[in-house]
Amino acid sequence: MTCVTKDEIREFAYKSGIDIVGFASPDCLFKYRDLLKNRYENGLSCNIEEKDIEKRINPYYFLKDVKSIVSIAVSYNIVYEADSPKSAYGTISRTAWGVDYHKVLINLLEKLRIFILSKCDDAKTVLLVDNNPLLERAIAYNAGIGFYGKNNMIINEKYGSYLFLGEMLLNIYFEPDKKVETKCGSCTRCLKACPGKALVGEYKIDANKCLSYATIKKGYLSDDTIKKIGTRIYGCDTCQDVCPFNKTAKRVIKDEFIPRGLKPKHDLKEILSLNKEKFQEVFGPTSASWRGKNTMIRNAIIASINSNDKNAIEPLKSLLDGESSYLRGYSAYALSILDGENSLPYIEKAYFKETDVSAKMFMKKAIKKIRGEVFEDNER
Ligand code: SF4
Ligand code: SF4
Repeated sequence: MTCVTKDEIREFAYKSGIDIVGFASPDCLFKYRDLLKNRYENGLSCNIEEKDIEKRINPYYFLKDVKSIVSIAVSYNIVYEADSPKSAYGTISRTAWGVDYHKVLINLLEKLRIFILSKCDDAKTVLLVDNNPLLERAIAYNAGIGFYGKNNMIINEKYGSYLFLGEMLLNIYFEPDKKVETKCGSCTRCLKACPGKALVGEYKIDANKCLSYATIKKGYLSDDTIKKIGTRIYGCDTCQDVCPFNKTAKRVIKDEFIPRGLKPKHDLKEILSLNKEKFQEVFGPTSASWRGKNTMIRNAIIASINSNDKNAIEPLKSLLDGESSYLRGYSAYALSILDGENSLPYIEKAYFKETDVSAKMFMKKAIKKIRGEVFEDNER
């Protein structure tokens, strides 16, 4: 008889607002060692992924006497219809609507921790929400939260895949829950719909091609990515939006995930004109803020190109003279497309002043584009 049962933990968790709870063995990740090795060797992992495989699969790094992992999932499939503004807009993934989910889930896990401590004096816990290298989705799968979809998301039959995941490492043993095997069947909707062609096979994702990653990747993006990213400012939901399990998934009412300052379809001109204070006000409370202002502005510049937004011209001219070299480079390029010859004097002036090599290259490319000249790859 343990000091607390799985049923007691589940009951408390459901009452406090957690939608799904499962239990996994801390050893459940060791079997992914070769798969991860293979991903790294084949270039399918991206820069923000932890490169030390052992840290990704070994919960004992984080709690040396861990005996169970409590996996939790909170649905963000909220009842909410996003307005479509009349002006050009950029899209924000559902993961960044409302309050930063990391805070919401840590609060829920903290309540659960206090509950367990009230029953078990010797309980030791470590709480994790996306702030660690462990394979969160694999933990959720092994804890029976849902099955792996071909889009690599965890899909629960009742709640679909719009799920935030969190974990509690615990020094109390619980029998692991049963895994749920895939129910995708012959469906391939997500593979066909993926705009980045990142789903390179069933259950196989090339993170470097994923547009969700592209929206948070710093610096210059390839021409191909610039085209594919469309009007995405933060994240990409396409492979989840098309999934039939999400069409029938339970919708939830959660005030914390209702968009506030940052809208699902946010006015591009406003993002292009963000200063530090306004960025804090609009993006600060959300999970999209961590990548910083300039990356969001870069994405808005790209979105203005891809939506042919002439209203972006004036803010782009200001950015051409701004503090960030790579935003200067990008705005020159965007102006060459949106404003053509009208912007040539501005871009030329910026080009002669520019000291950053990459920004200068983008400006040269912009000037040549306006003049109808070919920009050779060796001019990069
Ligand atoms: S998030 Fe977007 S780009 Fe990434 S795999 Fe899904 S559909 Fe493809
Ligand atoms: S869209 Fe189809 S194949 Fe993709 S995850 Fe959903 S059910 Fe599976």
